[in-house]
Amino acid sequence: MSRVVLSIGSNLGDRLAHLRSVIEALRPRLLAVSSVYSTPPWGGVPQQDYLNAVLIADDPNLEPSDWLRVGQELEQAAERVREVRWGARTLDVDIVWAAQRRRDGEVPCRSADPTLTLPHPQAQHRAFVLVPWLEVEPEAALEVTAGIPQLLPELLAALDAAEVDGVRRTEHMLGWPA
Ligand code: ATP
Ligand code: MG
Ligand code: MG
Repeated sequence: MSRVVLSIGSNLGDRLAHLRSVIEALRPRLLAVSSVYSTPPWGGVPQQDYLNAVLIADDPNLEPSDWLRVGQELEQAAERVREVRWGARTLDVDIVWAAQRRRDGEVPCRSADPTLTLPHPQAQHRAFVLVPWLEVEPEAALEVTAGIPQLLPELLAALDAAEVDGVRRTEHMLGWPA
């Protein structure tokens, strides 16, 4: 039983359709969907701008590893080809953060496993993750260091202002909730 924060992005082909394919597939499990943001590529490989969004989802039957598999199936359905690390892609679905839901509250997952690292090891460096996440969960905190929760505005304040400004809200609609 888990709640997850997913970052989705596309910069190849019909970018909006690729993001919408995730909404359609996850619709019954979605709790929140951010606006669509236009964002410059991150990581140094020259390529087209991305469309990015952040989703919050939960499912009583899915563990974090199941969410990874679901995300990878959606990437494959969008015919993603892995060529260059941080290079152009039709669809990327990353698990930014996950928590086990218990009766007495949520326990955030921490894992250093390279197959599924939680929280996502780059989340705190990425305005294209933090800006849409803040939109849908203003009180969210990320433990970059175990035991030290930091609110998203604090993490954003540590980033280069030009990078944060580069993450632009668009009028594109992903068709959620309707
Ligand atoms: P980045 O993860 O830095 O954003 P990327 O999304 O381009 O890079 P991918 O090619 O999509 O990288 O994934 C590479 C591997 O990362 C996957 O095989 C997956 O097992 C692993 N991985 C580890 N942690 C996570 C996570 N939190 N979310 C998604 N994939 C993860
Ligand atoms: Mg990624
Ligand atoms: Mg990925």
